[in-house]
Amino acid sequence: MPILGLTTKSDTPIETSQLGKSWKGAKKQQNRAGADLKDKFRLDIPPPFDKVIMASYNTMQPTELRVFFPHQETDKVFETWNDAVTVQGLQHRCNGERIIREVVTKTSYRGGKPYPKRCGQDCDRPCQRKPDEAICSECTSTGYLKFYIRELFGIAGMQQVIVQTVTGINDVVGVTKQLRGFEEKYGSLSKASIPSPMTWGYIPFVLRRIPKDIARPLYDGKAKKYTGGYGRSEAWPIKITEDEQWLSFWNTYFRKQMILQMAEQGQLALLQPEDQALYQEMSKLELPMASPQALPVAEVEQKAIAPASAYEKPALEPSVGGSDEIEAEPIVDTFTAADQDAAAEYREQMLGRSPKERVAAVNEFTKLDKSVQDDLWGQVDQTLHGIEKTSELIELMLLHYGESHMVRQTDAMKLIVRLQDELGIVDEGLAELFISELPNHIRPAQKEQPTTFNGVGID
Ligand SMILES: [Zn+2]
Ligand SMILES: [Zn+2]
Repeated sequence: MPILGLTTKSDTPIETSQLGKSWKGAKKQQNRAGADLKDKFRLDIPPPFDKVIMASYNTMQPTELRVFFPHQETDKVFETWNDAVTVQGLQHRCNGERIIREVVTKTSYRGGKPYPKRCGQDCDRPCQRKPDEAICSECTSTGYLKFYIRELFGIAGMQQVIVQTVTGINDVVGVTKQLRGFEEKYGSLSKASIPSPMTWGYIPFVLRRIPKDIARPLYDGKAKKYTGGYGRSEAWPIKITEDEQWLSFWNTYFRKQMILQMAEQGQLALLQPEDQALYQEMSKLELPMASPQALPVAEVEQKAIAPASAYEKPALEPSVGGSDEIEAEPIVDTFTAADQDAAAEYREQMLGRSPKERVAAVNEFTKLDKSVQDDLWGQVDQTLHGIEKTSELIELMLLHYGESHMVRQTDAMKLIVRLQDELGIVDEGLAELFISELPNHIRPAQKEQPTTFNGVGID
């Protein structure tokens, strides 16, 4: 929900289940806030899902996050409040005019003995802000940015959000403005307006933190008051961009669709020279072009999408010259070289350990008897060498585990391939995640199909 007059738009409450958190600062020390991590995000994600992060970023403090937003609208993706928080937690929550939630201490009883208990409750009373204060003195403008981490999204049942807490009026307003901009451009923050199977139909975004030299109105933190005048300081606000490759694909796709529509309506003479050239290229293709139907943006059309040509080029797009530019780049691999290095480094570290160490780490989770392990070792392809040989034993261990937990070997194998080859998770991370995902794949051998429903036959 928004801060009135600052980020107001609508006040629909949202429900999403939360997997973990992301922070801009280091872990807090005692009663002190942790230092700002500047260009990094600090992820607080429980096992086994942290293994997926390690496999793709090789750190829990990445400098960029590949995300999808869970809702179409800015206000749902980024809830903002004036929150009064102390070391004990939230004290009250204000929308700039009214305090709508507060924590009170009530007397509770345990074993007949009274003790004070903190309880949150809804309320509705005026904000305590004094006329000369920007917001009430105990509050800080706080935003809660919800997103899915792209690498976690493909895991069954993993459509749970990560919440990034954003504090301070500059960053809160900055994130709101960026999201509003994307919402206007695409009509939605979540659904891609062009077919995008590769991203499950979502618009892929990247979060980074970019240094910014800002002029801050001088503010007395203790008195929570602007004292007049400005000072300069460095901040690391969150910068949201579309995934560069997806954006380039989107731009080209959108442009071609518009040209096709104009061709259909006999408006080719109105094309700019560059678009004329593109049309010529498109006409040369032997494959039948998609028929110029209405753009597949039906659901979001009413929000008026600005023409594609008006969009700025993504800053990081590799410069391609001449006619190459008009070819839509297939979205095959959206990972940057740095990420590939991080992923390779993770695998190297994990796989570089001794076979004994690797197998023992996996068996922390599979807990197979020595005799079973020996038996499986006997089944390993003897033509394999070193690392591969151990990896195959680990696969056999997981398959054995799956079989004893009512999961068919083909299903278990598919799961291993997905976790290992697509997400890059190996060894104990693979084992931990494999076991946690396994219940989603239980398929007893003779599963009876019901032939009646509520006593009525279904044929
Ligand atoms: Zn207030
Ligand atoms: Zn307040």
